[in-house]
Amino acid sequence: MHFRGYQDLRSRLVSREITCQQVVEAYLQRIDDHRDDNIFTAVFHDTARQRARELDAKLADGGSVGKLFGMPIAIKDNIAMAGAPLSCASKILEGYESLYDATAIIRLASEDAIFVGRTNMDEFAMGSSNENSAFGPVPNPFDRSRVPGGSSGGSAAAVANDLAMVALGSDTGGSVRQPAGFCNIVGLKPTYGRISRYGLVAFASSFDQIGILSANCDDAALVLQVMAGKDDRDATSSRHEVEDYQERMGGLSLQGLRVGIPSAFFPKDLNPDVASVVRAGLKKMEDAGAELVEIELPESDFAIAAYYILVTAEASSNLARFDGARYGYRSPSSEDLSSMYVNSRTEGFGDEVKRRIMLGTYVLSAGYYDTYYKKAQQVRRVFQDRYREALEKVDVIAGPTSPFPPFGIGDKMDNPLEMYLADVFTVPASIVGMPAVSVPVGFDSLGLPVGIHLICNFFEEGKMLGIARQLQSFCQSVPSN
Ligand code: GLN
Repeated sequence: MHFRGYQDLRSRLVSREITCQQVVEAYLQRIDDHRDDNIFTAVFHDTARQRARELDAKLADGGSVGKLFGMPIAIKDNIAMAGAPLSCASKILEGYESLYDATAIIRLASEDAIFVGRTNMDEFAMGSSNENSAFGPVPNPFDRSRVPGGSSGGSAAAVANDLAMVALGSDTGGSVRQPAGFCNIVGLKPTYGRISRYGLVAFASSFDQIGILSANCDDAALVLQVMAGKDDRDATSSRHEVEDYQERMGGLSLQGLRVGIPSAFFPKDLNPDVASVVRAGLKKMEDAGAELVEIELPESDFAIAAYYILVTAEASSNLARFDGARYGYRSPSSEDLSSMYVNSRTEGFGDEVKRRIMLGTYVLSAGYYDTYYKKAQQVRRVFQDRYREALEKVDVIAGPTSPFPPFGIGDKMDNPLEMYLADVFTVPASIVGMPAVSVPVGFDSLGLPVGIHLICNFFEEGKMLGIARQLQSFCQSVPSN
């Protein structure tokens, strides 16, 4: 049982052609069939079935049904769901269960979505390949020897394999967009503050946003509509009015639209296959009436440097709470309080998380604060100014989502710097806080997916998804081999 997007599913549900229980059974069956892929860290067999029964009864009673009635959704394992394990794919949260629901979860549930399970990820959302997970890696749906991207690799693989119609991820520097690009689906990171972070486990609080992975832009818009908006439990959530995304998307024309193409997004060492697929996609926008405009933006390498100073600084502070006393894992081999802290953290955190905590405490230390942390904040400001200026001249900025196609499992594990470069094109939008989306536009010569990355001005999600939807429709194709 597969659907052409949520509207297809919904119309078949409300016309009583199928039931929520049948939908849930079909999805759970596929999830179970993919058990060896490690995509889920927990599957909600019982609660999803229970929920489907309730929703079927609600429809039968003639009650009005929610905007997401019967939509099977998977949730990244760093977003809190009351009574469910919350692991962040880390040993340090072993056995921990969340005490409350994230605001995003409450809003999805109130519109009758069905949660099917929790998805694998890089530990504490740190990574670009899903390999930094206590549960192990996840295979790319197009080539099992390759990574699905990260950190929301499980969420991307779940949607790409149709084990959920939509999945939530979190995006700090690209963790929704990059895996979406690697798995041939849509990955949306909204404007910073558009969706409440209440209940999202903090990695770098001034960057983190809950994002949406889906097969198409309409489903992303619908789910965003439900989750977006001010939340009194997150002071950084925005009061900016939430527009009607579907309406905005419907009225959008590419005729005369100005698409900014920064040379910074097409460096000389860009993978040639990626470059040609992306250029072909942009050409299709041009054919539809858009104007491609060359623009200048700061080299994205500076964004990566600033990003890894700022996020490690924030992470070192945010992760101080995992001390063996309050949550999850406590080392059994400790003699006193101090050794309990040290041993629990040493045994509980993986290598990448430890590397970042050390980097973060270093850049925040009294002697280096000005050299690194303050400087990186200044770089962040420069990027913000330059992106704002650019978006006064163009409607949208476009480039590749990733500089290379999905890479092999293990290929970059010994070289953290190379791994960090996977996000060279996604990090700038995170530094400036603007919305961005990865759109599937084709395949390279090996049949691996390539995505185009679009960035719009603050709170222009509707316009951006409207552009993305058209771009995706121009590029519908199948792998060439
Ligand atoms: N890959 C980037 C990092 O490791 C982005 C992670 C993310 O967006 N959560 O920090």
